[in-house]
Amino acid sequence: MTYTLPELPYAYNALEPHYDEQTVRIHHDMHHKAYVDGLNNALSKLAQARENGDYALIKHWEKELAFQGSGHVLHTLFWENMTPQSSGNPSGDLLKQIEQDFGSFEAFQKQFSAAAGAVEGSGWAVLGWQPQLGQLLITQVEKHQDLTVWGIVPLLILDVWEHAYYLKYQNRRAEWIKAWWNIVNWEVVEKRFETAR
Ligand code: MN
Repeated sequence: MTYTLPELPYAYNALEPHYDEQTVRIHHDMHHKAYVDGLNNALSKLAQARENGDYALIKHWEKELAFQGSGHVLHTLFWENMTPQSSGNPSGDLLKQIEQDFGSFEAFQKQFSAAAGAVEGSGWAVLGWQPQLGQLLITQVEKHQDLTVWGIVPLLILDVWEHAYYLKYQNRRAEWIKAWWNIVNWEVVEKRFETAR
């Protein structure tokens, strides 16, 4: 599977004067494109590794997957959540949830702006829904490559903190991983996959 740079849902100059045409053009055509190419490259290198059974560079390519994949996903979400015809504020269920979780739309906007302004170095500000907590959260993203692909829905989780295996396996993490495959509940994983899809 290879990915292509999605077209902007509006003209390059459509967000003027708030977002200038030249920046949008370079940002989309060059920066976002580089993430798409990098993601395709990482996926093809991981496919090669599976084919050859050679995982010597697994950390490198998993890091590339996280960096390039997250860049592609976040830029796509960013372009899509802008429009030349902004209504100015949310409504309906989203407004109700924002008022419940932040007190008011104004309070939400202040916190979001403060969070965005205080991101260390380069990064993102994100409003997200946390399904386990059942609430909206504002988060700062400093390094989008650490070490996930944004939007991923967890299906199968293995704990490799030392506390998870040390009493029995001490420093032999590989043995714990090998043993763990014998106790996976695939029915639960399949259900999570169906829900996510
Ligand atoms: Mn960018």
